[in-house]
Amino acid sequence: MQAPGALRFASLGSGSKGNATLVSDGETHVLVDCGFGMRETERRLTQVGLHPRQLEAILVTHEHGDHIGGVGALARRHGLPVYLTPGSWLSGRLGEVPRHHWITPQARFAIKGLEIDPVTVPHDAREPVQFRFRAHGRCLGVLTDLGHPSAHVMEAFHGCDALILECNHDRRMLAEGPYPPRLKRRVGGDWGHLANSQAAQLLKTLGLDRLQRIVCSHLSEHNNRPELVLEALVPLLDGDEARLLVAAQDSGLDWQTVI
Ligand SMILES: [Zn+2]
Ligand SMILES: [Zn+2]
Repeated sequence: MQAPGALRFASLGSGSKGNATLVSDGETHVLVDCGFGMRETERRLTQVGLHPRQLEAILVTHEHGDHIGGVGALARRHGLPVYLTPGSWLSGRLGEVPRHHWITPQARFAIKGLEIDPVTVPHDAREPVQFRFRAHGRCLGVLTDLGHPSAHVMEAFHGCDALILECNHDRRMLAEGPYPPRLKRRVGGDWGHLANSQAAQLLKTLGLDRLQRIVCSHLSEHNNRPELVLEALVPLLDGDEARLLVAAQDSGLDWQTVI
């Protein structure tokens, strides 16, 4: 992948069957989460022009299977270091990896040219974080698996140039959909996932002027539809709809450059 001198990102796929996001400063490429099997991950990486050995590291947000399921195997096969919180590690879902580094929530760290702020989020995992990346003077927020937009989250993700944002479910589809009541309460609760209406409210509060790209992510297969996401968010965009994109479960999203 040739793009020196810019913050870039791509999605290998997003949704409850697997998530993986690439972030790059043009030289250093990191993978945020990997919920796909190894062959599938390798295939999806090839589609965006990368070989696993070109990755510098894998960062883990939390231990749910759609994020951590493929991390251990990929790290072992290609000798990649894994960054995660002690809580995610203690879940025991990673297995042995060649090297791991602790993430301390709210403590900035760097992987070569990429500066990374891990931000604590309300979600029903042991020690979940989401990330804010900075390189070449630009900032990308990665914000999924969010039960509700807490004051801490709103402060931490203020001022991004691009945002990968969870739009998990439409409240009505969730209420009327096939999930058992307990799962409906979990998904729609304060420690579950973000509804389209909450994503819209979050964007309104953060402000949209600076956002070049808004990538709707982690859409539920059963409780959402892309057109409902657009219905919720398009009115906020002042006619500039080209900056709104969707990361799909099957096809992900090709490289985006934050200029
Ligand atoms: Zn998830
Ligand atoms: Zn999760």
